[in-house]
Amino acid sequence: MSVLVFAPVQGGILKKVALEAVSFGVRLARSRQSVCSVLCSASASADTVKQLLDLGVSVNYRVDHDLSDSDSVTYYMAQAAASCGAQQIVVSNTYMGKSVAPRLAVRMGIPLASGVIDFPQASETGWEVRRSVFSNKGYANLQVQGNSCVISITPNSFATESHPSGEMKTEHMVVAKGAQEGKIRLNRVDRVAGKIPLTEAERVVSAGRGLKGPENWHLVESLASSLDAATACSKPVSDMHWRPHEEHVGQTGITIKPDLYIAIGISGAIQHLAGVSSSKVIVAINTDREAPLFKVADYGIVGDAFDVLPRLTEAVQRFRAAHV
Ligand SMILES: Cc1cc2nc3c(=O)[nH]c(=O)nc-3n(C[C@H](O)[C@H](O)[C@H](O)COP(=O)(O)OP(=O)(O)OC[C@H]3O[C@@H](n4cnc5c(N)ncnc54)[C@H](O)[C@@H]3O)c2cc1C
Repeated sequence: MSVLVFAPVQGGILKKVALEAVSFGVRLARSRQSVCSVLCSASASADTVKQLLDLGVSVNYRVDHDLSDSDSVTYYMAQAAASCGAQQIVVSNTYMGKSVAPRLAVRMGIPLASGVIDFPQASETGWEVRRSVFSNKGYANLQVQGNSCVISITPNSFATESHPSGEMKTEHMVVAKGAQEGKIRLNRVDRVAGKIPLTEAERVVSAGRGLKGPENWHLVESLASSLDAATACSKPVSDMHWRPHEEHVGQTGITIKPDLYIAIGISGAIQHLAGVSSSKVIVAINTDREAPLFKVADYGIVGDAFDVLPRLTEAVQRFRAAHV
């Protein structure tokens, strides 16, 4: 009996969400005197073996497949779960995880707890898990009956901890050709090179209509680059095609939970806040001191973005040159 985690790999290395999920899985296994097994693509570099070992993984299932479509991940996860007798399955609540987790739960006939943000607590009949609901305006504590469960964890909710296990077994999964193919086949993935994925970013610099037009985004990008941050925007900005839709955060866009969220020229409408209010530290820059974003911000600058941004970027660059 063990905990099984899906660890997505990109460019041969484990993604940040993979490290978080594996670390969570190891912690879960240790709390139940069990062991943690991990499924990843065989394209993972030799360094990932050491990383998994450092995190405390006991068994690494590797499969000769890029595992970039949810049909294949569901199939191989089910095979690996049967092989190691996994009772708890952990995935990250990314686009992929949102597709894989419910299918695995149905396939294995076990409950699903999605979007989990706190470590589960054992209860008399099973365990209690916590997730955010209503676009992060509230929390729900769910009672999961029994011992088995698929858990999808919210990215950026759990730290990565090291618990070196000493030894890790590697199992190469051999699967009959064609057995894993579902009704939808992924033909090609075009990745945006060099950009920090928004859902995984620890720091996000975001801007709204206050920036006046796309020609001014170099100011936002310069600040983001000085902070190693991802860029985001409000809905009207992407609707007007000032920025690509994948940068739109909020109720109808992406929900993010970075360590730092800087909102520039964004009023802070409730629909915008729904996607960003779980950020650990929020900074608002706005000319209007009554802008609703200031009510949720930890730090605020009442000022003109065109004046503040170049000075802030320069100050960050100077600070990092002296300290990093
Ligand atoms: C069903 C529904 C779903 C929605 N979903 C989303 C969503 O997911 N995400 C989202 O963002 N919105 C969403 N919206 C839209 C939302 O209600 C707001 O209209 C939107 O967030 C406003 O965008 P904004 O803050 O960029 O623009 P504005 O509201 O126009 O605010 C611009 C801000 O910039 C400030 N400003 C102006 N000039 C400067 C300057 N030079 N320097 C600094 N500050 C300046 C102004 O004071 C103002 O506060 C949704 C709306 C609906 C009805």
